[in-house]
Amino acid sequence: MASYDVIIIGSGPGGYVCAIRCAQLGLKTACVEGRETLGGTCLNIGCIPSKALLHATEMLHEAEHNFSKMGLNVDAPKVDWSAMQAYKDDTIGQNTKGIEFLFKKNKVDWLKGWASIPEAGKVKVGDEVHDAKNIVIASGSDSATLPGIEIDEETIVSSTGALSLKEIPKKMVVIGAGVIGLEMGSVYARLGAEVTVLEYLDTVTPGMDGEVQKNFQKLLSKQGMKFVLGAAVQGAEISDGKAKVSYKLKKDESEETIDADIVLVATGRKPVTKGLGLEDLGVETTERGQIKTDDHWKTTKDGIYAIGDCIAGPMLAHKAEDEGMAVAEVLAGKHGHVNYGVIPSVIYTHPEVASVGRTEEQLKQDEVPYKVGKFSFMGNGRAKANFAADGFVKILAHRETDRILGAHIIGPMAGDLIHEVCVAMEFGAAAEDLALTCHAHPTYSEAVREAALACGDGAIHS
Ligand code: NAD
Repeated sequence: MASYDVIIIGSGPGGYVCAIRCAQLGLKTACVEGRETLGGTCLNIGCIPSKALLHATEMLHEAEHNFSKMGLNVDAPKVDWSAMQAYKDDTIGQNTKGIEFLFKKNKVDWLKGWASIPEAGKVKVGDEVHDAKNIVIASGSDSATLPGIEIDEETIVSSTGALSLKEIPKKMVVIGAGVIGLEMGSVYARLGAEVTVLEYLDTVTPGMDGEVQKNFQKLLSKQGMKFVLGAAVQGAEISDGKAKVSYKLKKDESEETIDADIVLVATGRKPVTKGLGLEDLGVETTERGQIKTDDHWKTTKDGIYAIGDCIAGPMLAHKAEDEGMAVAEVLAGKHGHVNYGVIPSVIYTHPEVASVGRTEEQLKQDEVPYKVGKFSFMGNGRAKANFAADGFVKILAHRETDRILGAHIIGPMAGDLIHEVCVAMEFGAAAEDLALTCHAHPTYSEAVREAALACGDGAIHS
C-alpha cells in the first residue's frame, strides 16, 4: 500500500497525459491500468492501429493509381496481410512502450490491475488499497452495439475486431457512416473488399458541415464504397460463418437484407464505468452513463474527478488529453481550462476531413450573421502536382466583425491544416488575419489562406 497525491484510473490519452502533467507539477502520482500495455483504447485498439492500416492502404492506393502517372513503373503491389498486421502491431508496441518510458522518466507509478474506489481517498487495485488525496477517473469508452446484433468479433465485429480480421473480406457491410465506419470501411475498400455502408440518417458523418458531407460521400463513392442512407438496421444473423443484415428503408418502410463476410458495427461508443463502485460512492451518472462533472471536472463527490470519454462531450483522444492537463493544473492549485469551442475533429480517410468551430447549418440555426470563404484544392499547385486536388477549404466568419467562427476542410492533410485555423480562433482572429499572413509557396496551407482571402476581397487562384 502506498500513499499518493493523485491516482488516475485509466492510462488512455486522458489518463496518461493527466498523470504526466500531475507529476511534472510536483504531485506524487500513480496511474492504474489493467491492460497489459499502457495507452488505452487509442493506442492499443483505436487511433494508432487504425492509422497504421489507413497509411498502408493509402500507399497501396497511391502505388496502384498514381505511380505510373509519375513515370514510376513497378510491378502491381501485392498485399501481404499478415505483414501488414505485423506492421500495425509494431506501431502499437512502439507507442505503448513510449508511454511506459515517459512514466518512468516523470516518476509516475504504474499500478497494474483493474481499479475500484471503495471510498473517497482510496483506490483498490487487486488486493492492495492505496491512499489518494485526489482520484481522477479516466476509464474511457467501449463500442456500443444495436438491439438484435451480437458482436462475436469474428464475423460481426466492433472496431476492435475490424483491426485484426483473419483475412480481407470479399463483402463487408458497415453499420453506421460515422468516423469509425468510414475510416475502417476505406481500409477494406482499398484492399479490394466490396464495402456497403448502411446509415440511419440521410447523410454521412452526422454533425459535420453539410457541403463537406455531400462532397465526402461523393469522393468515397468514387473510390468504390456503396452507401444506403436512411436505412435503419434491424438485426444480423450468422450462418456458416457468413452474415445476413436486415434493415428497413425509412422512405417507404420496405425491408431489405444484405449478405456479408464481415459486418462492422460502428454505431457509436458508450462510457465505461462498471466495476468502479460509483453508485455506492455517490458519484452520479447521466442516463447515458456519463459521469456528471462540474466546470472543473469534479464529480458529485469531493476528491473525485473525471475526464475523457466517460464524461460529456465529444469522444476524442485530444479532448481527453486537454481535460487531463487541465485537471492536473486544478489539482496543483492552478487554473486548468479547456476551450470546448475550439476542438478540432478529423477523419483520417483519403482525402482527410477536418473541422473546427461551428458549421454553416449551426450558424443559420442560431441566426448568426456570417459569410463564407471557400477555396478548391483544384486551384492549389502543390495539390495538383500530388494528385490530391479533390476537396476544398471553407472558412466561416462573422459577417460584420470578420471573426473566424468555423472551418471545414476536405482535402490533402486536412487534419494538419486545420490547426492553423484552431490557433487563429484561440487568438480570436479575423479571417483577414489569416489572409494577411504570408504562406509559403507551394504548400497545401495556401488553400487555407485563399479561403480566408475569399472571406474578403476574393481568392487569387479561383
Ligand atoms: P459515430 O457516432 O461517429 O457514428 C455512428 C453512426 O451510426 C451515426 O451516423 C448513426 O446515425 C449511425 N447509426 C446508429 N444506429 C444505426 C442503425 N440502427 N442503423 C444504421 N445506422 C445507425 O460513432 P462511431 O463511428 O462508432 O465512433 C464512435 C466515437 O469514436 C465517436 O465519438 C468518434 O468521434 C470517435 N472516434 C473518433 C475518431 C477520429 O477522431 N478520427 C476515430 C474513431 C472513433
